[in-house]
Amino acid sequence: MADVWQTAVVRALEEPVTRLVGDKTGKAFEVLGIRTVHDVLRHMPRHLMSGTDTTDLSQLLDDYRRGVVDDYVAVMARVASVKQAGDPSRLRLEVRLTDGTGFLEVTFFGKKHMIDYWQKLLSRSERGIFAGKLGWFRDRPQLAHPAFAMDTRDGYIGSADSMRVARQVMKSSYIGLYPQSSKLPTWTISECAELAINHIAGLGDALPEWVRDAADVIDFEAACRAVHLPTSREEHAAGRRRLIFDEAFATQVAMAYRRADSRLHRARPRPRRTAGLLDAFDARLPFVLTEQQQAVSEVIFGELERTRPMQRLLQGEVGSGKTVVALRAMLTVVDGGGQAVLLAPTEVLAQQHLATVRELLGDLGAGATLGAPEMATDVVLLTGSTPASQRRDLLDGIASGAAGVVIGTHALLDQRIDFADLGLVVVDEQHRFGVEQRNALGVRADQHPHVLVMTATPIPRSVAMTVFGDLDVSTITELPGGRADVTTTVVDQVTRPAWVDRAWQRVAEEVAQGRQAFVITPRITAKDDAGGASVEEMYAKLSSGPLATCKVGMLHGRLPTDEKADVMRRFAAGALDVLVATTVVEVGVDVPNATVMVVCDAESFGISQLHQLRGRIGRGSHPSVCLLLTSAEEGTNARERLNAVASTRDGFVLSEVDLSQRREGDVLGNSQSGTRSSLRLLRVLEHADDIALARTLAEQVVERDPQLTDPGVRDYVTQIERLAEGDWQEAT
Ligand code: ADP
Ligand code: MG
Repeated sequence: MADVWQTAVVRALEEPVTRLVGDKTGKAFEVLGIRTVHDVLRHMPRHLMSGTDTTDLSQLLDDYRRGVVDDYVAVMARVASVKQAGDPSRLRLEVRLTDGTGFLEVTFFGKKHMIDYWQKLLSRSERGIFAGKLGWFRDRPQLAHPAFAMDTRDGYIGSADSMRVARQVMKSSYIGLYPQSSKLPTWTISECAELAINHIAGLGDALPEWVRDAADVIDFEAACRAVHLPTSREEHAAGRRRLIFDEAFATQVAMAYRRADSRLHRARPRPRRTAGLLDAFDARLPFVLTEQQQAVSEVIFGELERTRPMQRLLQGEVGSGKTVVALRAMLTVVDGGGQAVLLAPTEVLAQQHLATVRELLGDLGAGATLGAPEMATDVVLLTGSTPASQRRDLLDGIASGAAGVVIGTHALLDQRIDFADLGLVVVDEQHRFGVEQRNALGVRADQHPHVLVMTATPIPRSVAMTVFGDLDVSTITELPGGRADVTTTVVDQVTRPAWVDRAWQRVAEEVAQGRQAFVITPRITAKDDAGGASVEEMYAKLSSGPLATCKVGMLHGRLPTDEKADVMRRFAAGALDVLVATTVVEVGVDVPNATVMVVCDAESFGISQLHQLRGRIGRGSHPSVCLLLTSAEEGTNARERLNAVASTRDGFVLSEVDLSQRREGDVLGNSQSGTRSSLRLLRVLEHADDIALARTLAEQVVERDPQLTDPGVRDYVTQIERLAEGDWQEAT
């Protein structure tokens, strides 16, 4: 890896943090997801404390009570009182800090001589910095055993650790307070940031000067200094903006080269043919395509005709009829002598796609069976659980070209499959389809398939540019007519337990009317420790209690594949009234007769997940109801998510709310804590302007340097590609 980097500055940035701070502190950094010098420099102070400011204590305590600040805090405050308390064997020192409005209790425990020592230190000055962990004592927040340094006329005095705080204060007039951990107090982080800055000092900037000028950002070293050792808030902001721009720019450059690269790829053109499968299919389609379905189809047909592979993202609400559009594209390719693959995220969905496609195609999908039309092709399903005995035949059919339409899960991408002539890959639900995947599908270097990515999660433009910047985007905003209203209500199960009973009653009533219902729970099995709804529990509880009169089924990911398919089939056929399920039913499941959805512990789900789930109802002509059961209190983030979902069915509005609540790391995958997020600072909504600017400049970079020879830019791209290997995925 060492020789990957061509520029001195990026080489230095990619060195392990242990080079600066040794193994022990390095380990502590790792807990924060910080491994390299670069990571340290991008670990931003959360707050800036000016050396002369005092902390707003009433605000801090208020925030702490509401659970919105870290436990670890550093405050600058006045010492209001200091007194010794407790009996001599268990002596403690009680200190009250104040900022003039609020008070914070601070306690030290220890031997008499230490207590005396601390007391003496504390009385050396009125003011000091106190840093430590907030906790509760007798219903009041208190700081136990903070490190502290007192601000005296001779400078700061305190313990060795505390003196580091003092040094920071003396060095720059502002102190960055970092997200910290018990092993890694904020001043250790700021010391390390300083070491990191020295480590890269004078090594230059990988971002070309003309880009810096055009974007009006300061150079990298200055930015790092400004961020970590600022002399003013304005300077800090300018530094931040540069580091944020870096991320936007690096992503956009990678995308721009990817776009340029794919412009060079060749695809076999698949012009639309008359009197083929597509026409036969259209002729038997039981409905009229919406205007938007038509329009998107035309765009796609236009692209399939060209020698350059289509790279298109098709977004549209659940039920907006994307699948039909995709299928028409697939048939066009089959008409042109090629094959098409449809990749679904789960087995259940792959099964459903198979059923839908077979139904829509009828004997057009019956291949070489006797009596099938001459133009008919084979539609096959290949997933991870396809038995080995069938597998060989299926693979033969795919290799010979007899199978024109291949449906499978993304698991297909883990193995190599040979196609006779793969012309189109349709990816359901926004998974990336990159180089490795192409290789897995046996795509030849000289001939790329057209690619259509479908997503029901509306993606704001800035996200689309960041994450899917190499794709062109089409959007379907209208739903095919005849769709019903869905009313969504948040049910507070703590303050309104009677409403929960009413919810089940409502389900029973709908069933009595001949309708069907979903009950969604966040997990399969009950957890030992916490309560909360599980599929198994709710199934047992409902089928023996409030829904005893209904036929209740259960669906979750741990059931054997056959059983899953069987349950879905029975529910779709109306043999089951109520389906108790996990998010397995999230995407694509189509049962127009379902009119109620009760989501248990709704706060466990993200906004887009709830939106997707709700898309399972209101698909027919009957008005539908979605009930979100929750114990999340009003005023919490979780409750706000639910209120947002209840307030609108506009997926774009919801996706913006969602984004504003989530950290960018979640947006771009790698949501597990501890893994490093490639984009630490960039918020796709907040920084939409910089993203757009970066995109324009990135296009210029590609124009100036089509072969990507600039070592600085090259490093950028490599760095980002390496970091962004995690797929886009919904945080769940
Ligand atoms: P999506 O994939 O976008 O969630 P689907 O393609 O699965 O949506 O379509 C949802 C349902 O609507 C399916 O039952 C489909 O057959 C039906 N449908 C699609 N297009 C139309 C249309 N133009 N008019 C009426 N029904 C349609
Ligand atoms: Mg679909």
